[in-house]
Amino acid sequence: MEIITAVKGFKDILAPETDTWRHIETTALDVFRTFGFSEIRVPLVEKTELFRRGIGESTDIVEKEMYTFIDRGDESLTLRPEATASVIRAYLEHGLPTAESITKLFTIGPMFRRERPQKGRYRQFHQIDVEVLGPDAPQIDAELILMLMHFLGRLGCEQLSLQINSLGCAQCRPVFREAVVRYLSAGKDGLCPDCLRRLDTNPLRVFDCKVEQCGEVIANAPLLLGFLCPPCADHFTKLQACLNLFSVPFRVNPKMVRGLDYYTRTAFEVTTQSSGAQNAILGGGRYDHLVRDLGGPDVSGIGFAIGIERLAALMPEGKTYGAPGPRLFIAALGDRAVESGFTLCNRLRIQGIPVEIDYAGRSLKSQMKRADKMQSSFALIVGDREIEENSALLRNMHTGTQDKVALDDVDAIITILAR
Ligand code: AMP
Repeated sequence: MEIITAVKGFKDILAPETDTWRHIETTALDVFRTFGFSEIRVPLVEKTELFRRGIGESTDIVEKEMYTFIDRGDESLTLRPEATASVIRAYLEHGLPTAESITKLFTIGPMFRRERPQKGRYRQFHQIDVEVLGPDAPQIDAELILMLMHFLGRLGCEQLSLQINSLGCAQCRPVFREAVVRYLSAGKDGLCPDCLRRLDTNPLRVFDCKVEQCGEVIANAPLLLGFLCPPCADHFTKLQACLNLFSVPFRVNPKMVRGLDYYTRTAFEVTTQSSGAQNAILGGGRYDHLVRDLGGPDVSGIGFAIGIERLAALMPEGKTYGAPGPRLFIAALGDRAVESGFTLCNRLRIQGIPVEIDYAGRSLKSQMKRADKMQSSFALIVGDREIEENSALLRNMHTGTQDKVALDDVDAIITILAR
């Protein structure tokens, strides 16, 4: 019978990759806690309306990438394509906003988008998502970016480039938008069909288009930085000063607009110089109206989402994050030895010592080969004679030295294993 394979765009993650992922996640936990963040876990399924309102009707995600289905109760539900909307929903539902407070949350888990699968692009992928809800001081933006770059540094990721931009606010962005529409309408003939449509629905998305001919059109388009109102310009200047204070290298990329509708002011991305089309490993930005758009009070927010698949691919080569080999391998020869080996092995494990044993009754030679392959620190050979005498030789696999131990003296064995 044929085996059933995984769904296209959905992939299994096996060791040692899972060890790398675990290392990424525990490092995130450690760094984020130092910066005052707490973890939140939100459901994978939400009401479709949440994403329609939260992400925006005219975004690629909502237009064509969501896994939406009608539940048996006739309700339209969606597998979450990103976490921000869900985090804010939970923040509001549990009454977390309080006057002048700041709420710092992170969540880690799978997201679902029905995109065309390719290298570095999956239909189920995983994100580390971080959100700060509260005041909109530029120091908060800077602190978040500083924490992010510190986290990436702790992981040993190199050759990363941080790009920042300001997307303006409800005052200045419409003026810019009009200027862009005017500019693009004049160069309409050079735009791809998608961008022609975007011109009516979401003209700033044209800046994100990867089609070469559109790139030529936008090369000379007006830039938002020239349209920022004084408060937005001031916010952006202060953000840069804070980053400079901590010598965080960055580049202002005035053409970065980010794919989601909700961003205002600060937007940022980290890209890698390593080859491949999918070079963005994370994106984030400030959203001054999202909480209100989701029915909450006038609270500002800023967040980012890192793609774990892309981050894992950038981890330093040659490093492994798995557990080392077992401390002890018990080579048991014969039925009685297997019985006594089973007892000893699991007693030691319960004491917290990693021990392996082979119950298959293989030859001594093949069992020792296995111990070697697993890089066990010690080996204990137990046969009929050892059982008879209640003693066996405990061999240090690195130095070759051997100690005689009583098989029932677990404490003495533990003392030697601890050396
Ligand atoms: P976004 O939520 O679109 O801003 O994406 C943030 C990050 O999530 C990106 O920089 C990628 O690292 C990752 N990401 C987004 N979509 C995918 C995908 N389909 N497959 C793998 N990673 C993704």
